[in-house]
Amino acid sequence: MNEYINKFLKIIRNCSVDNTYKMAWGRALVEISSEINNEKIHFSQIATKIFKYYWNQTIYFDLIQGSNISKPPEFITEVKKQIEIYYQKQGNRQPIRFERIESEINLNIKKLIKILKQDVSWRFLKLKKETISLYSYQKGNDYLILENYEILKEYSDILFEAINFRWTQILENFNSSPRIAKKVKILDLKEIKRNNLSKFRSFLDAENPNHFCFICNKKITNETPSIDHVIPWSFLFSDDLWNLVYTHKSCNSQKSNIIPSESEINKLEIRNNRLLKILESKNDKRKAVKELKIAIEKDYVRKFWISCKT
Ligand SMILES: [Zn+2]
Repeated sequence: MNEYINKFLKIIRNCSVDNTYKMAWGRALVEISSEINNEKIHFSQIATKIFKYYWNQTIYFDLIQGSNISKPPEFITEVKKQIEIYYQKQGNRQPIRFERIESEINLNIKKLIKILKQDVSWRFLKLKKETISLYSYQKGNDYLILENYEILKEYSDILFEAINFRWTQILENFNSSPRIAKKVKILDLKEIKRNNLSKFRSFLDAENPNHFCFICNKKITNETPSIDHVIPWSFLFSDDLWNLVYTHKSCNSQKSNIIPSESEINKLEIRNNRLLKILESKNDKRKAVKELKIAIEKDYVRKFWISCKT
């Protein structure tokens, strides 16, 4: 393979694992090089790309990007601040891709660039025993010069794959949530589609025919009950009968990504036992019923609840 690409891959494979800055930086270089027609890359372009990656990984999956849980990397703190501002303005906590609302977000680009210059741009090229040359930067400039942007463009698929793989490995060091590789990968797609949950209604109706809201306990009238993930979808990244309940639309939209309380977990366990009994008494043989049974036997509700709390 090309020498320049080998050097790039060497950095990706050998980088330290304290946080994911280098992955985000490398990914931004590759993505930008396939959009430009000269070797100049501005720090503002890189900062915006990195902001996009972290926004999407945070707002959808709340992935932790650094080993020090109580002190997240500074760039992430900026992203989280902006997500909160966006939620406040929006009046609900429905996640959205950065690409779709980019123009509405006021990036503090100066601060982001400062972080990158301080912590990432030079460190990216440093391995334990050597410094690798891929680009050059003159102090005081707001851009860097890539040695070979055309080759990055040509090999972008391989590089993206290597970066995603390494990024996943690093995330696994400080995230206990399941399906991390899938979470990282899906953010490459244009749309994150939530599955239609209506196929679960017939199961939920069997146990909750009068449509009581799981969150406020009141009867849901004059609206189709919403189907809610008790343990957040952002954590599980999966739709499972054992985790789904009916709620009011309004109750549901106020709480996305919030970790349930122990009393809610107790309530869900009781609900699941009742639900399984009812479905078995009807001799229901569908796949979701078998999965519900396994979930009860293996104590999924409590196990996933505990791991999403830590
Ligand atoms: Zn309610």
